[in-house]
Amino acid sequence: MMPRYLTQPEAKGLGMTSQRARDRMIERLRGEGGIADERVLTAMRTVPRHLFIDEALASRAYEDTALPIGNGQTISQPWVVARMTEALVEHGMPGRVLEVGTGSGYQASVLATLGLETYSVERIEELLRIARRRFRHQGLNVRTRHDDGRAGWPEYAPFDGIIVTAGAAAMEQALLDQLAEGGTLVAPIGGPSGQRLLRLRRIGGELVQEDLGAVVFVPLLPGTL
Ligand code: SAH
Repeated sequence: MMPRYLTQPEAKGLGMTSQRARDRMIERLRGEGGIADERVLTAMRTVPRHLFIDEALASRAYEDTALPIGNGQTISQPWVVARMTEALVEHGMPGRVLEVGTGSGYQASVLATLGLETYSVERIEELLRIARRRFRHQGLNVRTRHDDGRAGWPEYAPFDGIIVTAGAAAMEQALLDQLAEGGTLVAPIGGPSGQRLLRLRRIGGELVQEDLGAVVFVPLLPGTL
């Protein structure tokens, strides 16, 4: 007789949430995605993305697409997470990093899995509560705060890395002020005509800006919910 678990309907989606599905995602990121940083690829092979989205969508967890996570928000597309993380660590592993926009908690988990001391701020309490449970479940130490992340997290500044996962029309001065010397900030910036992924590095007291290409993010909004 077939083992009972194989006859259960939930077993059907199993293949899509397996390590094999994750390995295939990594090969796509490396291949068509052009992601070369093995540290980033290894971290993304480790974090089970299907545990960061609703069960009803879990079978699509390893497609290269953004997915809804409730409250009108989305978990970023794997390639975008990979690209932003790669851009953040390219010129040296930061020690302490700040993420603005915890969302599902996936990006923060990738950062923590890379061994970074991770701080993450989210404005929607309900999302943060679920993300915190995921961090605990994964045994990851991510420090979180329910607040408007446009103000950064001054108590723990300066940060060697800052990653903003929601789009603003312009760079927030408070975040720039909390970026350490030698630090890197990655953020989607742009108006209705389109967002660009920008990387700013503070080098010798100067800010050096690079444009890493077009991206699509949900908006960075004021206040808390
Ligand atoms: N990094 C997330 C992506 C979430 S989408 C992930 O890996 O899943 C962007 C998130 O930014 C949303 O959860 C949204 O609520 C949050 N956000 C938007 N404006 C914000 C603000 N001012 N401060 C903190 N979080 C904000």
